[in-house]
Amino acid sequence: MRTERISTTEPEDEAALGSLRPRTIAEFVGQDEIKEKLQIYISAAKARREPLDHVLLNGPPGLGKTTLAQIIAAEMGVGFRVSSGPAIEKAGDLAAILTNLHPGDVFFIDEIHRLRRNVEEILYPAMEDGKIDIILGEGPNAQSLRIDLPEFTLVGATTRAGLLSAPMRDRFEVSFRLGFYTVAELTRIVVRSGELLGISVSPEGAAELAKRARGTPRIANRLLRRTRDYAEVKAEGRIDREIARSALEMLQIDEAGLDDLDRAVLRALVDKFAGGPVGLETLAACLSEEKDTITDVVEPFLLQEGFLQRTPQGRVATDRTYEHLGKPRSDRLL
Ligand code: ADP
Repeated sequence: MRTERISTTEPEDEAALGSLRPRTIAEFVGQDEIKEKLQIYISAAKARREPLDHVLLNGPPGLGKTTLAQIIAAEMGVGFRVSSGPAIEKAGDLAAILTNLHPGDVFFIDEIHRLRRNVEEILYPAMEDGKIDIILGEGPNAQSLRIDLPEFTLVGATTRAGLLSAPMRDRFEVSFRLGFYTVAELTRIVVRSGELLGISVSPEGAAELAKRARGTPRIANRLLRRTRDYAEVKAEGRIDREIARSALEMLQIDEAGLDDLDRAVLRALVDKFAGGPVGLETLAACLSEEKDTITDVVEPFLLQEGFLQRTPQGRVATDRTYEHLGKPRSDRLL
């Protein structure tokens, strides 16, 4: 039976976690190279009194793309508008948003790889020339109307840069790839969140949560909140190493930070497909999971940690996979 997941994508307690979002570049932990470049681009744009160039942020869920977009708006001292690829259904919806922007605004489109093609086509001239063409009416009487837009900065976020159309990708002057966070960085995030939420966490407790957060700030914050519940019942609210370990055990997060779904993927690979190679479709079907969940949420961390390899023939288990599941490699024993 699958237990509760510490999901990276569910909006579940996003409102509560909102208060944890860093508001400035200085508060944003990690991603040093990105921060350094952003700081320069922002200072230069401000000095020229121009909006920042369009920015593409790419990386797995929960690594801080939305947070960075908000920080860009705050540091530029401009307004922030937010939407997402699937939410903008018609070209007219996008036109309405764009024409209502205030000069200089940051317009954030999450999951930009999921924009519909006809919507995307409105965005090209908007990004490039600050104009959109709207077709009024239909058939022989249709008229094209050109509208000048206020200057704006588009910040697009995607978990799958590979799915972005080439013309879309080309229109971003700046493109950043967010990587997973180190344990030290996540420890700082847990300590900071603990202070903001008034949770007492020892340095060792914070490090334990950080180690098992799959390199992801959103998961680190979620683990902290779940562990707080446990600590309140079992230890008068204080999270030390032992309490963190017991809470993580209860949540079925293992020593490597893998959760139920991660392990289900690895087990399927080993038990049902003899370590692979197995195609994504087959793997997803066998687990009754969406393909996107496997590629966007599960795989990036497993690949980085060497629990999985992607080959042209499909996904393959590694020595570490077998080791982690405590199973011998039958192919090596023969
Ligand atoms: P994404 O848009 O990439 O899915 P978010 O920007 O929503 O991720 O970040 C998820 C949560 O993680 C936020 O609530 C934020 O508090 C926290 N977070 C993300 N990046 C950082 C960071 N660099 N430092 C501190 N907290 C962070």
